[in-house]
Amino acid sequence: MSTSVSLSVTLPAESKNSGSEHHWLHVALDVPLMGVFDYSHTQPVAVGMRVIVGFGRRKMVGIVVANPAVPDYPAEQVKAIDAVLDDLPPLPADWLRMAHFAAAYYQRPLGEVMLPALPGPLRKVAAYQGKRSAGGPVMRLERRKAPKAVLASADTSHELNAEQAHAVEQISQIQGHTTVLLHGVTGSGKTEVYMRALVQVLEAGKQVLFMVPEINLTPQFEQVLRARLASVAQGDVLAVLHSGLADGERLRNWLRTSRGEARVLLGTRLSIFTPMPDLGLIIVDEEHDTSYKQQDGLRYSARDLAIWRGHDRQVPVVLGSATPSLESWNHAQQGRYHLLSLTQRARAVSLPRIRLVDTRYLRLEQGFSPQLLDALKECLARQEQALVFLNRRGYAPVLHCVSCGWLSRCPRCSVYAVLHRVNQKRHYLQCHHCGHQAPVPRACPDCGDQDLQGMGRGTQRVEEYLAEHFPQARIMRIDADSTRLKGSAQQLFEQVHAGEVDIMVGTQMVAKGHDFTRLSVVGVLNADNMLFAHDFRAPERLFAQLMQVAGRAGRHTEGADVIIQTAYPEQPLYQNLIRHDYIGFAQAGLAERESIGLPPYAYQALLTAEAGQLSQTLQFLSAARQLPEQSATPLPGAEHVFLYDPVPLRVVRVAHVERAQLLVESARRPALQAFLQAWEPALALLAKQNKVRYTVEVDPLEI
Ligand code: ADP
Ligand code: ZN
Ligand code: ZN
Repeated sequence: MSTSVSLSVTLPAESKNSGSEHHWLHVALDVPLMGVFDYSHTQPVAVGMRVIVGFGRRKMVGIVVANPAVPDYPAEQVKAIDAVLDDLPPLPADWLRMAHFAAAYYQRPLGEVMLPALPGPLRKVAAYQGKRSAGGPVMRLERRKAPKAVLASADTSHELNAEQAHAVEQISQIQGHTTVLLHGVTGSGKTEVYMRALVQVLEAGKQVLFMVPEINLTPQFEQVLRARLASVAQGDVLAVLHSGLADGERLRNWLRTSRGEARVLLGTRLSIFTPMPDLGLIIVDEEHDTSYKQQDGLRYSARDLAIWRGHDRQVPVVLGSATPSLESWNHAQQGRYHLLSLTQRARAVSLPRIRLVDTRYLRLEQGFSPQLLDALKECLARQEQALVFLNRRGYAPVLHCVSCGWLSRCPRCSVYAVLHRVNQKRHYLQCHHCGHQAPVPRACPDCGDQDLQGMGRGTQRVEEYLAEHFPQARIMRIDADSTRLKGSAQQLFEQVHAGEVDIMVGTQMVAKGHDFTRLSVVGVLNADNMLFAHDFRAPERLFAQLMQVAGRAGRHTEGADVIIQTAYPEQPLYQNLIRHDYIGFAQAGLAERESIGLPPYAYQALLTAEAGQLSQTLQFLSAARQLPEQSATPLPGAEHVFLYDPVPLRVVRVAHVERAQLLVESARRPALQAFLQAWEPALALLAKQNKVRYTVEVDPLEI
């Protein structure tokens, strides 16, 4: 028994099962093994309590998920727990239900769902050791003064227009659970609808979960929320949660929300796992955004879990977007979601004019058409702001040798290393898949020629060119490189809002959700990249992205211009875009998906395998594919499930690991679920034999 466990912890009288009374426990642990684990204690321990147990040679924090009458294991082998962590009341029943659902739906061990969903200190044994008197991390949290409300811009509340008023009215009439799809064009004032609905729910004594897709969007909404809450609530009732917060801050905000002290929780996808005793409304802004999908560990969709939770708690869920996911749009068309539309911009400004510039017959100057350069020049003359959008960071996507054609490859991955710029003289190569960095060679490694040049362009090169071409303009680049330091993105956006920037150059980081007041020209440089991508969702993502970035223009002033450079102006996607016709795009997209049986008309899961050699992964996947046929008893659901051929990933090798995948598809979700569950144990065995690692992703977004 650990004697260093601190005083907030109730120590059992004895650690061995020698006492007369046993209370058996099923404990979920964060280990990559399906199932839960048997332990015992001399006292009853409620479901939802956290405990410290020995697992192998380690001590771990686990969560009690059941009190079985008899253990699954032989009783004499069942170990006693080390301690009950009674610094928190048990995790609430609805939280446990959601975790059970997520584990079953996404095919993960329960403990791998539950424990990572807690703030770090609550699941680390170390947090309960050391200081004997202070008690666990909860006891150690010192109280903090409520932050002062930030003074938001003067216009925080608006007289609602008819469409907004209708939407608020409809949302407020919901009894129990309904999912609302709020489809509003960019700048239509969705935020105002959220705020009104939110205030009504607060006034009814309930809590609100408000989710945004990106950390970078939290400051903007935090400001709007603080200003609004100041007039309806006393003290600090807002909590913010995202992965950028320090452990202590995250714990504090999680606790304030789960105790009901915070009445509004603003957060990114991870906030879906926060207990909220008085939950009354969930808002998911930009519901189509792929950032709601976690890409490792438990690969959950926070949007989908929000809908599940809303149904479970019988509270409304509002999904908002200018370009809803085709899944959500389909639900709305079928009447499963309640569709509410905002068709006009809220301020009396028209949508920006979107122009396609056909680049096939033009001489581009460093990627810029004369039309775009003219528009930028006029924008500068009017002293308004412009945005040049290019979804590629770095200086140039690849370095090449002019005489022999050598290309800079990452030594560890099957991709090119990207040329990055430090200053005019200094550059380096970096792999965007594994992070590997290397200096730029002095001469071509193959032929010795010294004429090495960057091919193509990224944001750094565009920034450099614009600085040369418009020497008087203040240019700011906003991408993952320029905002690497904590808080720097917010600083850059503040400078933009303060009017200290004339031209922004940025990746999708600048496209989302920001309400720029003086932005009147948007130029898009390499839109075609995604047009012919292999992934069937690529056009949907491209359309949403272009609508979003176009929607940053002309939000407060008339006559904004969006210029999209393309070699395929006749493509239907672009034609829908210039008409601002999401509905036309969605209908065509859904018709196509239906005709070839793709989601949302089919359900998918992706089995991905990783190993040192591609052949190992392909062997494993082939064997996995044959399992249903070879099984003595038919696997449940298998007759409704189709298994595709295994294929290598598009980027086969990352950091010396080679990868392949197998797509699983069914027209019936329950059949797919049953099949995956039956398939899993055999996969685990096969993976061990073949020495591969594997993951199963349900509802994958990228294939
Ligand atoms: P989006 O639908 O793109 O999220 P926002 O909520 O950011 O749009 O609103 C766009 C702009 O319109 C904001 O500056 C907001 O303050 C303003 N706005 C919202 N509702 C109204 C209204 N009823 N009257 C006037 N302006 C409004
Ligand atoms: Zn060469
Ligand atoms: Zn690499």
